[in-house]
Amino acid sequence: MGRTLTILGSTGSIGRQTLEVAGAGGHKVAALTFGHNVKLAEEQARRFHPKLIATPEEHTAADLRARLADTDVRVLSGEEGLMEAASLPEADTAVSAIVGVAGLRPTLAAIDAGKRLALANKETLVCAGELVTARAKARGVDIVPVDSEHSAIFQCLQGAHLREVRRLILTASGGPFYGMDRKALSLVTRADALKHPNWSMGQKITIDSATLMNKGLEVIEAMRLYGLPLERVDVAIHRESVVHSLVEFADGAILAQLGSPDMRLPIQYALTWPDRTEGPAKPLDLFSCPPITFQRPDVETFRCLGLALECAKTGGTSTAVLNGANEVAVGLFLEEKIGFLDIERLVEGALERVKPVQDPSLDDIFEADRAARQAVYGLTR
Ligand code: NAD
Ligand code: MG
Repeated sequence: MGRTLTILGSTGSIGRQTLEVAGAGGHKVAALTFGHNVKLAEEQARRFHPKLIATPEEHTAADLRARLADTDVRVLSGEEGLMEAASLPEADTAVSAIVGVAGLRPTLAAIDAGKRLALANKETLVCAGELVTARAKARGVDIVPVDSEHSAIFQCLQGAHLREVRRLILTASGGPFYGMDRKALSLVTRADALKHPNWSMGQKITIDSATLMNKGLEVIEAMRLYGLPLERVDVAIHRESVVHSLVEFADGAILAQLGSPDMRLPIQYALTWPDRTEGPAKPLDLFSCPPITFQRPDVETFRCLGLALECAKTGGTSTAVLNGANEVAVGLFLEEKIGFLDIERLVEGALERVKPVQDPSLDDIFEADRAARQAVYGLTR
């Protein structure tokens, strides 16, 4: 069945691939939101004819409005515009693909409007997972993960009961710095960190993949999606990125989902679920794929993963502090203002300074995020 989409973050890596999938699969596009890339937003508007496009800043909206003056696309700005795009009645599905906690409010708006949530924005679940899943449950909204590991798990769980699950096993490529020691890690540059071996993604998640923070965020994401404790979510380094994740059941059987590393497959599945259709993703050639290997992650060398696992255990607002501090630290690293190992140092510093609150409200979560960012700026001054 063709779906009608609102794509939150349409100019990003996931947003662009969602539009490819939509174009190939005959899905309609009702609304888009984006940050800064006006030229691409204009191209997307002309190709997909959404009713509404929203962007945070008015000067960006004014530029796009002028470019689209010959069309009947409405262009809005600010928080209100983003919320209207997220909840536009014409859309039945929201693709949450903004990067960072900036995606939290629009994602909640889409849930409140009763849309299927195709969720790529993991930071939303890391910061406010229990709130998000409870709201979705209360509203009768399905959350279908787009993150490749969580999509793999979701696929393995079709027709199964969660009570029969012994543990989830998230695979991790290990990133570009796999096998390096701390001395070598202290010398890596922004350009080195942006070279991911197997996936082409936005800059923030690419850095998170290099520090292994991404896998830590994904462990928390999996715990929130499936309501499982940390003891039942494992990580396995799997350099080949062929097995996208696994589920071990009570009887010892392990199911896995395999495929080429192509995000268009999990994006498409989130739209078509429970159906499967042909799509643009390249099939995996089993006979030319490398031997499949698994290893334990090194949480001492890759301290960001260790910190995330500690926060997963602590819970409450600690995961929002972890995320907020990491967003700022990764931003500083991308601006080449700090070194690679400063990312974990700053995140750890923020976690020491901002005390966690249990059973947080949405306000508590935003306050933790603000305090974490401030702590990182304080530590770099
Ligand atoms: P990206 O940086 O390429 O794109 C982010 C999008 O969000 C852009 O359209 C940008 O304009 C928009 N945006 C950023 N800040 C915004 C704001 N304040 N308000 C409104 N829009 C804003 O990022 P990406 O790689 O596409 O990742 C998006 C999300 O999906 C992240 O949470 C990431 O962890 C997750 N994810 C990405 C991949 C991938 O392959 N890229 C895989 C798994 C999960
Ligand atoms: Mg992933």
